[in-house]
Amino acid sequence: MERSKRIKWLDLASIGKSKVLVVGAGAIGNEVCKNLLLSGYQNITIVDMDQIERSNLNRCLFFSDLDAENKRSKAEVVAQKLKTLNDSVKVAYHTEKIQNLPEDFIPSFDLVFGCLDNVAARLHVNAFCYHHKVPYIDGATDGFIGKVQVVMAPNTPCLECTMNKTHMKVMEMRFSCTGKDVTFFQQKLPAEITTTSIIAAVAVREGLKISSNIESHFSKKIFYYNGAKNIQEVLEIEINPNCPHHV
Ligand SMILES: [Zn+2]
Repeated sequence: MERSKRIKWLDLASIGKSKVLVVGAGAIGNEVCKNLLLSGYQNITIVDMDQIERSNLNRCLFFSDLDAENKRSKAEVVAQKLKTLNDSVKVAYHTEKIQNLPEDFIPSFDLVFGCLDNVAARLHVNAFCYHHKVPYIDGATDGFIGKVQVVMAPNTPCLECTMNKTHMKVMEMRFSCTGKDVTFFQQKLPAEITTTSIIAAVAVREGLKISSNIESHFSKKIFYYNGAKNIQEVLEIEINPNCPHHV
């Protein structure tokens, strides 16, 4: 923390007090949690319903062969590892779908990170955060391509503003059978650690700005990264008048 204190705009007291939620404890979630811990966040809650599989091990710092063998919960293992690294940090975890947690759950946080691999959960978190004005930072990767979007109601577009027809088609498939909890298998995207690290780092850096209340530094656009072509861009986005969250 001694070196962090030398960065004038970082408000370490405020960062330490922020109550942070990380939704998704996969590849991006592992990296985001590591960065949060090392950046001085002291109150971290993790939500993930999945268990660790061997295929996760190439890009998840906190998971081991033994965790995969024992089919341990991703959220529980990340929480445990954070405590091992720093016992003074307050860590909580939930091993269920974010959609199944109480309505007052998401609004109880100061900052939310989306580290998710499915559209339905993303839109759920987006809707709650936008409605309750909780800053939401969404990270996503697809192979060497990644993006980070910061959603801060009511001044920025939300995640749904930027959804295209393909996303909506996926949603329709997911919700085509109502009444029962239907499992919808989304194709697994390619993933590797270098792009994941960059996206998680950018996401947490935006979180640090928000927690430090440095509004002039806030990103209200999309950070886009293509590691294969060495391209990094900031994409302008507008509030979509057809999006239901801006009435
Ligand atoms: Zn919107």
